[in-house]
Amino acid sequence: MKNIAIFGSTGSIGKNTLSVIKRFPDKFRAVALSANSDIKTLSLQIEQFKPLFVCVRDEKAAFKLKKVLGRKTKIYSGQKGLLEFSQDKRIDQCVFAISGSAGLVPLLTAIKNKKDIALANKEALVMAGPIIMRMADKSKIKIIPVDSEQSAIWQCLQGEGRARLKIVYLTASGGPLLYEKKSSLKRVSILRVLNHPRWKMGKKITVDSATLMNKGLEFLEAMFLFNINHRMIKVLIHPEALIHSMVEFMDGVILAQLSRTDMRIPIQYALSYPERLANGFAGIDFYKLKSLNFSKPDISMFPCLSLAYQAARELGTLPAVMNAANEVAVEEFLNARIGFTAIPKIVEKVMLRHSNNLNPVLVDILDADTWARQEAGRFIRKRST
Ligand code: MG
Repeated sequence: MKNIAIFGSTGSIGKNTLSVIKRFPDKFRAVALSANSDIKTLSLQIEQFKPLFVCVRDEKAAFKLKKVLGRKTKIYSGQKGLLEFSQDKRIDQCVFAISGSAGLVPLLTAIKNKKDIALANKEALVMAGPIIMRMADKSKIKIIPVDSEQSAIWQCLQGEGRARLKIVYLTASGGPLLYEKKSSLKRVSILRVLNHPRWKMGKKITVDSATLMNKGLEFLEAMFLFNINHRMIKVLIHPEALIHSMVEFMDGVILAQLSRTDMRIPIQYALSYPERLANGFAGIDFYKLKSLNFSKPDISMFPCLSLAYQAARELGTLPAVMNAANEVAVEEFLNARIGFTAIPKIVEKVMLRHSNNLNPVLVDILDADTWARQEAGRFIRKRST
């Protein structure tokens, strides 16, 4: 029996993780759940999964939940609670499903506490990849990716040494605006952006899919997770989203990982690794499938991708700055305060103004994150006046 803690249990990945746990009651147990503020969903999860303890990051929401639950379940609260939460000896593996940069410090704390990690949050790696990977080495723990592309690469590399690896093909569905005319991108609606053709996910990542920033974040994520150089990664638009990524070895052999577009598949593998468990899901019907398509991404249409390439070439604090400016811009887009094409413009402006620190420690990264948020906010206010 593996005891699992879920950081961010009320979001899309969190809910899917619980549905995997429910399918294998003799293999996995949800011993700890954390949420930001959605105590309504969390209460239902507590009732169903009976965790040993929970954490609510928002203090007010935590207080409300305490009144409802009484002493039945231990409740941690606040950022401090979230850090204490991962110290519990009963946890075997932490699933990191908190979205955005808020996941970074709790992730580092869980690694320091020697917990194996199933990682869905990509922003933390983008911000502080080298620090995270060094600490994971030191703690002798595994970081198993949950993101479907990284899970695909991870699966293709089983039993293979990194030295044999030549190219990683990072596939992208292209998001909801792949076939949009460039001229109409400026006025594209929030609803249209949130309507992803292949994946049902949280709002932040769905907007990132539409700008292709999601692929840019994954590009950086792959560099750190697999310890590879930016020259070894090629982004490939693949609208059917059935090949979740591929690797090419030095002898020209290419391995691809295919499965249905269902996040429960990579989540399950991250929990059961290195085992595979039968889940009753259908595979792919190749008789019905007529073709698989591939193309090169159009970076003039989706400039976020080229900004991420730049951050990947320069590294240092630039990826954290890019990520923070993007988080602010996406939030403002979702609040209908800026248009879709303003997102890359804001990110680019903030990146241009940053003086990069090439050898940052954690505090430099957190400072760069704060600075970039302020800069992005300033640009947005300037635009609207
Ligand atoms: Mg992905």
